[in-house]
Amino acid sequence: ARVVDASTTDEERRIEAALRPRRLAEFPGQQRVRDQLGLVLEAARRRQSPPDHVLLSGPPGLGKTTLAMIIAAELEQPMRITSGPAIQHAGDLAAVLSSLAEGEVLFLDEIHRMARPAEEMLYLAMEDFRVDVIVGKGPGATAIPLELPPFTVVGATTRAGLLPAPLRDRFGFTGHLDYYNTKDLQLILTRSAGLLEIESTPDGIHEIASRSRGTPRIANRLLRRVRDWAQVHGQHIVDEEAALAALELFDVDQQGLDRLDRAVLEALCKRFGGGPVGLSTLAVAVGEEPDTVETVAEPYLVREGYIVRTPRGRSASRMAWEHLGLTPPKPVAG
Ligand code: ATP
Repeated sequence: ARVVDASTTDEERRIEAALRPRRLAEFPGQQRVRDQLGLVLEAARRRQSPPDHVLLSGPPGLGKTTLAMIIAAELEQPMRITSGPAIQHAGDLAAVLSSLAEGEVLFLDEIHRMARPAEEMLYLAMEDFRVDVIVGKGPGATAIPLELPPFTVVGATTRAGLLPAPLRDRFGFTGHLDYYNTKDLQLILTRSAGLLEIESTPDGIHEIASRSRGTPRIANRLLRRVRDWAQVHGQHIVDEEAALAALELFDVDQQGLDRLDRAVLEALCKRFGGGPVGLSTLAVAVGEEPDTVETVAEPYLVREGYIVRTPRGRSASRMAWEHLGLTPPKPVAG
């Protein structure tokens, strides 16, 4: 696994759990979403009724699960956790819904991956607090309506565009999470270092934050690797020297690009004169599957403007040439 991968494993989720902020006031960054959510929750508290359903959208590792847990904590309600892939039949969802207590928060991660019949059941339940339980099979089957106590759905998705409109419309509030700036990542890292009892210097924290691709999950992971380096080298403090050495060892450069990212840029500039070049040709040049180049390396390179996708293939922007210390031919995209 790449040290700059924004997705995660179950094992890492366990380590991450200790680092999650528990309340809205402890959650650095995403100020707009935080302010909006704060208002929605405060109003619900004053009305003493559950808030509107909340949809959180944004790339992996930016804090959707953390915010869902914060919503439940702020409402002082228990939270039930499930995910789209775990709900493959409407019956799976009916079982969860029918066991919810009044006011409970239902967190549905990867909600865009839920089976279609379950989606339909969910949006009726969200609107009318009712599910139709089907008893029997075939022509004799009957639907028995089951009233549900009011509850709050918090849905999380990396692909809001994939949600069918009727489901999307049932969410009274949608919070779009965006990549963090370096300053907010520094706050997050300083807090994490404190929780992990790691001594750190502002320079060391800044170095890690600026290479973390705007993503708290990556920032926390890099912090753990720098801590490893510091401990093995007997210095017990995460400072600039430790950060530079550890991040060099893990091949994360000043812009947060790793070996694969740089291999793609180098192939594009040095072998194909900056492109445009087709995805599969580019993938062969770096010895990877096209799918790996497209889903693992490209999203960040495109987002940051190193690569431009055109109908004729991928082209390197001026930034890509400059990042490699090369002079771009003229003219060049970006
Ligand atoms: P995925 O889409 O992969 O489920 P996610 O968006 O749900 O990711 P989280 O699991 O909430 O992301 O966050 C990943 C890690 O980053 C956690 O350890 C969490 O504590 C940390 N994190 C995320 N956002 C923040 C933040 N604003 N402040 C502090 N830590 C954060």
